[in-house]
Amino acid sequence: MQAHDALYLSGMWRAARRPATADAIEVRNPATEEVIARVPAATAEDVDAAVSAARAALSGWAETPPAERGARIAALRDALAARRDEIAATVTAELGAPLSFSQTVHADLPIAVAGSYATIATEYAFEERVGNSRVWQEPIGVVGAITPWNYPLHQIVAKVAPALAAGCTVVLKPAENTPLVAQLFAEAVDAAGFPAGVFNLVTGYGSVAGEALAGHSGVDLVSFTGSTAVGRRIGATAGAAVKPVALELGGKSANVILPSADLSKAVKVGVANVMANSGQTCSAWTRMLVDADRYEEAVELAAAAVAKYVPGDPADAATRIGPVVSAAQRERVTGYIAEGVREGARLVAGGDQAPEGCERGWYVRPTVFADVTPEMTIAQEEIFGPVLSILKYDDADDAARIANDTVYGLSGAVWAGDEEEAVAFARRLETGQIHVNGGRFNPLAPFGGYKHSGVGRELGTHGLAEYLQTKSLQF
Ligand code: NAP
Ligand code: MG
Repeated sequence: MQAHDALYLSGMWRAARRPATADAIEVRNPATEEVIARVPAATAEDVDAAVSAARAALSGWAETPPAERGARIAALRDALAARRDEIAATVTAELGAPLSFSQTVHADLPIAVAGSYATIATEYAFEERVGNSRVWQEPIGVVGAITPWNYPLHQIVAKVAPALAAGCTVVLKPAENTPLVAQLFAEAVDAAGFPAGVFNLVTGYGSVAGEALAGHSGVDLVSFTGSTAVGRRIGATAGAAVKPVALELGGKSANVILPSADLSKAVKVGVANVMANSGQTCSAWTRMLVDADRYEEAVELAAAAVAKYVPGDPADAATRIGPVVSAAQRERVTGYIAEGVREGARLVAGGDQAPEGCERGWYVRPTVFADVTPEMTIAQEEIFGPVLSILKYDDADDAARIANDTVYGLSGAVWAGDEEEAVAFARRLETGQIHVNGGRFNPLAPFGGYKHSGVGRELGTHGLAEYLQTKSLQF
């Protein structure tokens, strides 16, 4: 795909207010460190123009019958599906994810989510009767969507598709590291035949375009995915303006392996869950909890499982783990690995040095720590890299206490010989999603966090509800 030296506003590609050469974002391939494209860095004025475009399109789109909105979203799904391989190649080039993972997750998941909202828009009950009242679900208005780089197309679709299904119009500010798949998405919107201004794309820096969008008086709801630090700021700004926000923030999820579980399967799936996408997954099960009796066996199984993740060129079909997204992210992750060693955790695989044969590219060694205790930094903070911490528990009460002992609560897993035992344990966990005995990701299930992991839910009908407000008429 050829990068656009332009923003997508009012149904057209338009030059940013300043020439791209002055303020361009350089997009780099994390495997080669080379600049692969330049895109405009929008100013506050550009954001203002985009919000105006979205506001001008709002009443027409809000009044479009839901089935017609659903038909346009179905066309968007088809436009994305037709470019599935291009989506995958683009995400591999700008994020560094292995090509097979880019195909099956970075491309296929958002295509499925877009398809789900084509159906939901058509079938959802936007109107109901309650006693002597009629209750309407109306679009909340202009949505400012701010997304990160780790699942770049999924995070865009998980906001834009429900917002459009609800009858809202959108201004999207994608992450500076992954603007190319966002431009491809805008091309797909264009091909799908939405009215001009219903969707607008401003590439730019968080500190400029992101700030301008989050604080704009013409935006009715900000939906943000990213770090807890930025989410807290956006929540404070919205609170002061009495506006709703949706926040999808970080995680430090627990993978609780109960004594009756199939240990070898639980460890293998647990390691795969952490290493996928080079560990850059907010819902990753980065803390593995194992009972004292089987602890050493689990550590050995984890070390053996992680040995199969040999960092390599993400464009090579055989590669299972690529680099992390940027030099800054590599510094952050290797800093945490060094901190784990300093705090006395036992390094059983990996480390903070560059992997062998990977002098170029932002690679990190797949790393496993044992003897991690709950108060250690590597047990508390989100690392966002290929790093697993294995903790020991005494009994089920201890396991539940440790699992809940972080500020986060986004996801998690429970493994037990008996499904009902796992379900009973799941009730004790303060977290938004729990995978029972390896249950797979469901793109229709509500996704979102307890505690500092966020506010609100994405995906399925719960995700649609974030973009609706309620009016009741009494008769
Ligand atoms: P981030 O700074 O929170 O970025 C997320 C999005 O917000 C990006 O589009 C970013 O723009 C934008 N942004 C940054 N500062 C902003 C501001 N003041 N106002 C409005 N928007 C702003 O996250 P990051 O720097 O990409 O990653 C930092 C850490 O956040 C990661 O290491 C990880 O721990 C966590 N994270 C979590 C998730 C998740 O899914 N929960 C996703 C990504 C990162 P720029 O791209 O220009 O910064
Ligand atoms: Mg940032």
